[in-house]
Amino acid sequence: MSIHVVAAIIRNKKNQILIARRREGKSLAGYFEFPGGKVDEGESHEVALIREIYEELGLHIEVGTFVKESEYTYEFGTIHLHGYDCSIIGEIPDKIESIDHDQVLWVETDELVRYRFAPADIPIVAVLGG
Ligand code: C5P
Repeated sequence: MSIHVVAAIIRNKKNQILIARRREGKSLAGYFEFPGGKVDEGESHEVALIREIYEELGLHIEVGTFVKESEYTYEFGTIHLHGYDCSIIGEIPDKIESIDHDQVLWVETDELVRYRFAPADIPIVAVLGG
């Protein structure tokens, strides 16, 4: 089974990147990821990203350029992950709460490697220079 998932690479003014740790009870709990989620049937990547980031983090974003696609096969199916540069519309909060994550952090690019990312997100960490 193929599962298409979109992920947002969001930077703040200090050029830190937003990452989030999946909560207990979710698949891949305890792993960090670039926030995002499943693309619904017939939905564009852009619309899916805007919807997911609003649902999870309560943030309005604009979707920019495509960064990287990666895939990883789990027992439940193959995740095709599509990463896009995105920007927050309006003020960028320091502290962000998520319904799906127990930690939401702004991190420096060269610190990304310190975090345990979900396997499909690791190639995105690599292209970002982490
Ligand atoms: O967040 P949601 O549960 O909708 O994500 C769907 C699937 O995509 C999950 O298995 C999740 O682990 C995966 N995913 C991922 N990397 C992301 C976002 C989601 O591997 N950046």
